[in-house]
Amino acid sequence: MPRRPSETKPETIRVQLIELLAHFEDQLRKGDLRRKVLSLISAFHLLRDLGSSLIPREEASAARDRILAYFRKYPLLVIHGDELMVVSGIQDWPRRIRELRREYGWAIASGVTVQEMIAEDEINVKGLVEASLKPEEYILLDKEQDREAAHRWKIANDIRKKSGGVHAKILEFLRSNVGRPVTGEELRYVTNDKSEWARRVRELRTEQGWPILTRNTGRPDLPIGSYLLEKDRQSPAHDRKIPDPVRRAVLVKDKYTCQKCRWTHEQWNPSDPRHLELHHKEHHAKGGENTKENLITLCVVCHDAVHRKDKS
Ligand SMILES: [Zn+2]
Ligand SMILES: [Zn+2]
Repeated sequence: MPRRPSETKPETIRVQLIELLAHFEDQLRKGDLRRKVLSLISAFHLLRDLGSSLIPREEASAARDRILAYFRKYPLLVIHGDELMVVSGIQDWPRRIRELRREYGWAIASGVTVQEMIAEDEINVKGLVEASLKPEEYILLDKEQDREAAHRWKIANDIRKKSGGVHAKILEFLRSNVGRPVTGEELRYVTNDKSEWARRVRELRTEQGWPILTRNTGRPDLPIGSYLLEKDRQSPAHDRKIPDPVRRAVLVKDKYTCQKCRWTHEQWNPSDPRHLELHHKEHHAKGGENTKENLITLCVVCHDAVHRKDKS
């Protein structure tokens, strides 16, 4: 049971703690083991109270609120679990993180997930890429709360329980969220926390031609660590197998703009859900290469038109 601290002013708690530890000198010298242990209990409680008093009660009274307040104060910084233990003042802080993520829609990623995204080059944030993140570390990737997250976690939970491979589960989850960004944490969860999940997402894009984009592979407007299936369609077979670095280079060269009609993501609307694809000027099947020079950015409408002309 969480104990309600009687005192909430950090300075008062600090003084109480020092007094207690000063008395502990006597216990150390002459007390028996049981007495030593018993007299240390209040010191443990006080230390915990001191940690949880650092964020004022008026600002965040519950442990979960203090954890959130701490993350929001330091977004995009790697936070160690021990820090959350201190500010929350509770043992079971990992459960609060799961609640913040799944019920309240805060994009708190674990170090493992971020590390797996970095390995697939989906995250390219200075400082993050250099850091080697550990499982007991966390990071708030998006300052905005996502109110649709709870709904997505329910879908993720249903798909997770089904039989089927990692590719299939990821694809089913993304196809139930076309046009809406999902987080890496959700994708990982869908696959029953298989560490290969990030590689499989990349394969769905680079080998099977699904328009699953991140900040680093075509949608710089997305939050860090988010994935978006832009449309429920695979790119034409001859335009698949484009490596991500080449894809990125072509999009940057073409300024994320269709080179025929000048369409960009800013013009996106639900009644005209276009997205951008890459097209081989000299067809891949006929020996056209996956190079920046041989690839061009087209919106799906212009891309389809180009292919229709090819056939006639
Ligand atoms: Zn176009
Ligand atoms: Zn094409």
